[in-house]
Amino acid sequence: NLQVLLRRRPQGAPVPEDFEIVERAAPEPAEGEVLVRAAYLSLDPYMRGRMSEAKSYAKPVALGAVMEGRTAGTVVASKAPGFAPGDVVAGGSGWQRFSCVKAAGLIKVDPAEAPLSANLGVLGMPGLTAWVGLEDIGQPQSGEVMVVSAASGAVGQVVGQIGRIRGCKVIGIAGGERKCRYVTEELGFDACIDHRGDLAAQLDRHCPEGIDVYWENVGGVVQAAVFPRLRDFARMVMCGVIAQYNVAEGSDSFGGAPGPNLGAVVRKRLRIQGFIVSDNGWPRYPQFRREMLGWMGDGRLRWREDVVEGLRNAPQAFIGLLEGKNFGKLVVKID
Ligand code: NDP
Repeated sequence: NLQVLLRRRPQGAPVPEDFEIVERAAPEPAEGEVLVRAAYLSLDPYMRGRMSEAKSYAKPVALGAVMEGRTAGTVVASKAPGFAPGDVVAGGSGWQRFSCVKAAGLIKVDPAEAPLSANLGVLGMPGLTAWVGLEDIGQPQSGEVMVVSAASGAVGQVVGQIGRIRGCKVIGIAGGERKCRYVTEELGFDACIDHRGDLAAQLDRHCPEGIDVYWENVGGVVQAAVFPRLRDFARMVMCGVIAQYNVAEGSDSFGGAPGPNLGAVVRKRLRIQGFIVSDNGWPRYPQFRREMLGWMGDGRLRWREDVVEGLRNAPQAFIGLLEGKNFGKLVVKID
């Protein structure tokens, strides 16, 4: 069984030496478990948090343990009712080829509905994150202005497209011209701002009326530019702050820009709320999947994946994710 382990905890940005790749015997499923052979591994920003011992909503990966992650693949052996060899599933576990998982954590998927890897992105945890965060917190109304950071990424691409379906004017923020062009031309956002340029001026140009829904994926200087432009009764969906994940606690994560002045929360009656998709997302998965498949089927919802070949390349690909090197939902194809 090819596995990627956490060798040591990163100081700042992770480096290849923080990981270790090993070859071990494949595991045997216990009673109630299913042995899954992974075809795709999802790489996600939250994994940076699992590499660290800092207090968080989930426990860190232990040193020497397999890196945490979700996979999609096929059942090889089953000691759980409802699963049989050959079943196609999402919910395999860890940066590894084979994993034994409890049946409760697995989703059986119909391979005719969508490509297998889509179950890790648009139809997986990131897609569910977008859907749940908008349902519960963003609540976009027709005619409102929505701004989405990391707009070409796994979560952002779904957020903005749902915003369009709900009748909003949607402005993306992404890194570089290629990503911005994709966001407007392929995903149909009304505009996309390159965060390497003058953010404030571009926001003023594209949202002169202000912003009703801000989907926060990035934090730092992007948040500092958006926050003062929120309108009365705006909602700020705190999904993630990826620009701050490699920054040591206590240092200046706003790149010299002033952080948000929370007095505006009172004055403008803002709603700022964080959420974690696993809090209450998965019980709503069937409803989410039905709605998404409908939009995907009639062409209103598109998606893009960045597929890296080979599990041995997972550490480098993950390091790149935290630098914006991915273009679309990052997955590893396991050979
Ligand atoms: P993406 O596919 O969007 O990939 C990450 C992107 O973030 C990069 O491509 C890059 O886009 C941008 N980025 C990376 N580093 C920086 C930086 N230093 N400054 C600015 N932008 C940067 O990832 P996901 O869609 O999977 O995740 C997006 C966010 O959602 C993350 O913050 C993640 O932690 C969060 N999340 C939260 C969940 C929850 O339950 N709350 C669940 C899932 C995700 P670009 O080149 O355009 O800048």
